[in-house]
Amino acid sequence: MSTSESSSSEPSTVEPSTVEPSIFTRIVNREIPATIVHETDTVIAFHDIAPKAPVHLLVVPKTQRYANVVELAAGDPALLAEIVDVASKLADDGALMGEYPRDQFRLIFNTGQAVGQTVFHVHAHVMAGNLTEGSFAH
Ligand code: 5GP
Repeated sequence: MSTSESSSSEPSTVEPSTVEPSIFTRIVNREIPATIVHETDTVIAFHDIAPKAPVHLLVVPKTQRYANVVELAAGDPALLAEIVDVASKLADDGALMGEYPRDQFRLIFNTGQAVGQTVFHVHAHVMAGNLTEGSFAH
């Protein structure tokens, strides 16, 4: 799979009809509400419904074909890079960061049930605000 083409030329929201839509796909499709802060053809970002830090956003590829970051890195590294880029831009947004230093954030990809992954549609947690060394929140 070509890295540069795959995230931009394919309609990423089209999934096999047999696959149950994930909770995040349902947010993409506006079937359930979320506070969306950024959206492109391929990526969406919104506030986590149960924040574990003063700033806690989720950056999610619209496709749900990758369950975790390992699959995403192998299947579409350009899309992974886009997620990191979106995370960085959100962390540079004063309206989202409030009183907290811009451009400083924690990026977490839970990978596997044993470490707390509950939604098997790859997503990045973007967290900031009073996080200290050793405080691996969530
Ligand atoms: P995981 O534990 O899989 O790494 O992260 C899943 C995250 O999705 C959790 O932090 C959880 O709070 C968040 N989440 C689950 N359901 C919803 C929802 O319906 N809306 C939003 N905005 N976040 C959700």
